[in-house]
Parts: sequence; structure tokens; C-alpha cells
Amino acid sequence: MSARPAVDDRKHFIEAVRTFARRECGTREQRAALTNGGTEAHNQAVNRTLAELGWSGVAMDPEWGGAGGGVTDACHLLEELAHGKVPVFGLGISMIVARTVQEFGTDAQRAEIVGGFCRGDVFSVAMSEPDSGSDVGSLTCRAEPVEGGYRINGQKTWISCAHYAEKILLVCRTEPTGDKHEGISMLLVPTDTPGLSIRPIETLGGREVNDLYFTDAVVPADALVGTEGGAWRQLMAGLNFERVLCAAIFLGNAGAAFDDALDYVGTREQFGRPIGSFQTIKHRVADLATELECCSLLVYDVARKVDENPGGALSREASMAKLKVTETAKRISIEGMQMMGGAGYTTEYDMEQHLRRNIVSTVFAGTSEMQREIIAKAYRL
Ligand SMILES: Cc1cc2nc3c(=O)[nH]c(=O)nc-3n(C[C@H](O)[C@H](O)[C@H](O)COP(=O)(O)OP(=O)(O)OC[C@H]3O[C@@H](n4cnc5c(N)ncnc54)[C@H](O)[C@@H]3O)c2cc1C
Repeated sequence: MSARPAVDDRKHFIEAVRTFARRECGTREQRAALTNGGTEAHNQAVNRTLAELGWSGVAMDPEWGGAGGGVTDACHLLEELAHGKVPVFGLGISMIVARTVQEFGTDAQRAEIVGGFCRGDVFSVAMSEPDSGSDVGSLTCRAEPVEGGYRINGQKTWISCAHYAEKILLVCRTEPTGDKHEGISMLLVPTDTPGLSIRPIETLGGREVNDLYFTDAVVPADALVGTEGGAWRQLMAGLNFERVLCAAIFLGNAGAAFDDALDYVGTREQFGRPIGSFQTIKHRVADLATELECCSLLVYDVARKVDENPGGALSREASMAKLKVTETAKRISIEGMQMMGGAGYTTEYDMEQHLRRNIVSTVFAGTSEMQREIIAKAYRL
């Protein structure tokens, strides 16, 4: 794919991803086999296949193994995979790490991380800590500069897919200073580093997140990504990309929940007619379809703006996309479950999985409350 794919190329790409999703994950039996009965959000064999097809690196630089597309292409990929229920939770997170390294890393790091991502490797990003969630800048995990590298001590929590990852992009404090946004650095930490322990956290969504414990874990000096002490600016620079990708994933999830609800109300009969023919259901479906359409327009409008101006400050727009889409995905799953009656609550249908996955979307990658704070700031509030 060229840097500016023709409209037809993009249509073919979208169609190819849809066909793949239908073929590989189109039935509940296929999905159950790939997700250990719906308890795992990521299947690494499927992730590798996407890389072999050349799709994972769609938005990465060709110099490092990518296809040279833009954020819009990445959004289409992630939306279609989510809509097609393809279990590759680690793909979006790895893409964010790869983009960060492509932007701020050395050539050796780009070859390893961006190249590895394009070949199907998984990477995690570790910012959150038990006492540092929405207030990321208050993080305390310490990487003390020592002879030839850094010695890391502290805890990270909620780290998605760390149990699949080759390396973790660790956001930690290298210099304790007065200003909490200074002295933070990014380090690439191999998951087999002595002194790093990765332990699962049980959640409603199954096996997806982990606690990380660092006890005198040492990494070499070339683990540093970008400028020592300058990670806050690097993080801010990547937020447009991260938020719009997250929005694209949940646009796909929302679409899948909508389709499942629509199928059900079209076939389930009560009082001698399909329940979808009752006005209360019909109008709710119409409202949800309208919301979904708004979300799609918003996501691709923001993605286009990011592609046109990759370094531009689009925090208001990117936060709006993340807020609107994740709140809509949550709403569609809750309303979908209600419209399906008891069936929506059973594990016989996918709606309960949609609800478990989508309900948390308004928490990670910045909660809805924090997105509203960012949006309000644009209006000087
Ligand atoms: C499934 C899942 C996956 C995750 N994956 C990752 C990952 O891969 N890497 C990573 O680093 N982190 C990850 N996280 C962590 C996630 O980013 C945090 O959970 C999130 O930032 C919120 O932090 P917290 O849970 O500590 O909640 P808190 O920050 O304690 O917030 C609790 C509540 O208070 C509200 N609140 C807090 N401050 C304010 C304020 N100033 N104004 C208004 N309301 C406020 C919040 O919106 C929220 O509703 C993940 C979390 C989950 C649940």
C-alpha cells in the first residue's frame, strides 16, 4: 500500500480483512477455539497470520517493514478486525508501542520493535500504577541510572497483554524532580528480564491484564527510547494516534454488538410477530444506528486530520472520538442485552461478551471523565 492509497485500494483492503474475519472467526465454534472458550482476548497465532499478510504494519514506515499507510488505514484494519470478532487485543497496543519507537527510537530500536511488530511480535505499554491511574504524571516506578544502564524498582498495574509481549515500553521516573511531568523516561524492558515478575489480574473480561513487579531489574542504557527525562512530551505527542486507534477498535466492537442485536430482534417472535416490529424496539435500533453512524464519521474525520497533520495538536478531536465511541459501544451493549431479554445474558450468545469488553472501554486509555476534562480545556474551562 502506498502512502496515499487510492480509494479502490482501501476498499479492497477493507473487503480482504472482512473476508479473513468471516473465514477464520465467523462461527462461535471458531471463536471459542481461538479464545479458550471466550476467556482470552488475544490469539497469537492469528496475530502472526495478520503480520504475514502484511496487514499489521499497515501504518508503519516501509523502511522498517511496514506498508507506509496512515492512521486511517490502521483504523480501518482495527475496526474491521473488531467488527469481525477477531481476537487480537494485543495488536492495537503493539501498534501504539511501534509508532512511539518509530517516532522517537534509534534505528536499532526501530529495526527491532517496528520490524518485530510487522512480523507479529506483541509489545505492551506500562504507565499505570496502583496509586497512579488518571493522574499518570504522579507515577513513582523508579529507574535509577547506574553504570551502563538503569536499575528498575516499583510496580505497574493493568498492563494489557504483558503475558504475550516480547518487550514492555515502561514509563518510569529516572530523575525525581519537583515538577511531576519532568524526569519521566521510556525504557524498553524485555519480559524475561531478571527481577521482573508478571502476574495476571482476574477481570470480567478474562485473561487480559497484568501486574508487573520490578525488583532491581537492570536494563542496558540503549533501552532508553528518546530523551531521558522527556517521556511526558513523547507521550503527549502520541495521544492523537492512541485515542483514535482506540476509538476505531470500539467502533468495530459497537458495530458487532449492533449487528447481533439486530439479528436477534429480527428473528425472535413474541405476541405472534418479530420483536423488532414493536415500535419501542424499532426506534431504539434506529437511535443506535444513528449513534453508530455519527461515531464512524467522527473517527474517520479525526483519522484524516491526523494523517494530514501528523504532528498537529488534535487533543480535543481525538478525545471526542475516544469518548463518543466508547460510550456508544457501552450503550449499544447494554441496550442490546435488554432487547435480547434473557438470551442476551446467557453465554449462548455473544452479547454478554460484548458487554464485558465494552463496559471497560470508558476506563482504559483515559477514562471518559478525563476525556471530558481534556475537551473542556479546549473551551478554557
Ligand atoms: C482492561 C484494562 C486495560 C488496561 N490496560 C492498560 C495498559 O495496557 N497500560 C497501562 O498503563 N494502563 C492500562 N490500564 C489502566 C487504565 O489506563 C486506568 O485504569 C485508567 O487510567 C484509570 O485509572 P484508575 O483505574 O487508577 O482509576 P482512577 O484514576 O483512580 O479513577 C477512578 C474514577 O475517578 C475518576 N477521576 C479520577 N480523576 C478525576 C478527575 N480529575 N476528574 C474527574 N474524575 C476523575 C475516573 O474517571 C474514574 O471514574 C488498563 C485498565 C483496564 C481496566
